[in-house]
Amino acid sequence: MNVLITGGAGFIGSHLAEVLLERGDEVFIIDDLSTGSVENIEHLQSHPRFHYTFDTVMNRPIMAELVDRADCIFHLAAAVGVRLIVESPVRTIETNVKGTEIVLDLASKKKKTVIIASTSEVYGKSNAIPFSEDGDLVMGATTKGRWSYACSKALDEFLALAYWKEKQCPTIVVRLFNTVGPRQSGRYGMVIPRLVQQALVGQSLTVYGTGMQSRCFTWVGDVVNALVQLSLHPDSVGEIFNIGSTQEVTIQDLALLIKEMTGSQSDLLYVPYDQAYESGFEDMDRRIPSLGKIQDLIGYKPTIDLTGIVGAVIEYVKQKELAIR
Ligand code: UDP
Repeated sequence: MNVLITGGAGFIGSHLAEVLLERGDEVFIIDDLSTGSVENIEHLQSHPRFHYTFDTVMNRPIMAELVDRADCIFHLAAAVGVRLIVESPVRTIETNVKGTEIVLDLASKKKKTVIIASTSEVYGKSNAIPFSEDGDLVMGATTKGRWSYACSKALDEFLALAYWKEKQCPTIVVRLFNTVGPRQSGRYGMVIPRLVQQALVGQSLTVYGTGMQSRCFTWVGDVVNALVQLSLHPDSVGEIFNIGSTQEVTIQDLALLIKEMTGSQSDLLYVPYDQAYESGFEDMDRRIPSLGKIQDLIGYKPTIDLTGIVGAVIEYVKQKELAIR
């Protein structure tokens, strides 16, 4: 198959490209290198079936060519990372909404399959734990920048489902729950690479708020395998799927685990949300996916637990540091 990955030089996109190349596909990626990097795909650049374009998905003529060549499109290009989103709301909304509009419009002309990457953020402040795909989305006020990400992604979901319903363009929506693994950068706020980096260089581990908020972290390898399987399954079209793990951990316990696994002497530094992000910032207390739907369809099951995930990130950060020295 010819496959296009938007955001293919990003953390998840580059892992997906690897899996697709191994499967024998011809892989095309487009990335504007805003949060993705050349480094993420350096090892793939000489592969005869890997083709890259460094440009934005909002460049319609370039996208028209790429979409035309593809049998299937994984649309992962988006503004991501809570820090980035709070700092650049215009960019968040425009990239996430306009980019998806262009991908869907072009794909629908020849009915190409599109997998749209959404996020567990869309559940917002819902406390209907575990979150199931047909549950209500509970957003905060529009004055609070964080929710622009959730709303922009929710709009992407509406659009994707509408393109299937109205124009019979086969679309699949996935909601990713805190994906983690090698190549994820801590620069945009993501907690595990940030705390691992801090622990390894002996800085205080920044725990935002009380540290009692919890998350379920998902191994990137499990996410990309699920994306590939869903893209091949006829019954996934027109549907939404959570992809995640149900191993819940508070951020305070996560920081203690990272401290222990790195053997770091660093202390924990509790930072109030309004200092970490912006005044009035609202976090999500708990975020646990219901995985029944994806389990039933493709037999999805997380393969690596939290300790395994943290261990892999520690190894990655250490190797990266060594490469810099
Ligand atoms: N967080 C933290 N310290 C950091 C970065 C993040 O305590 O240095 C917290 C953040 O407030 C949130 C959780 O860790 O409660 C997960 O944050 P992340 O940005 O990785 O993902 P989110 O779940 O917010 O999308």
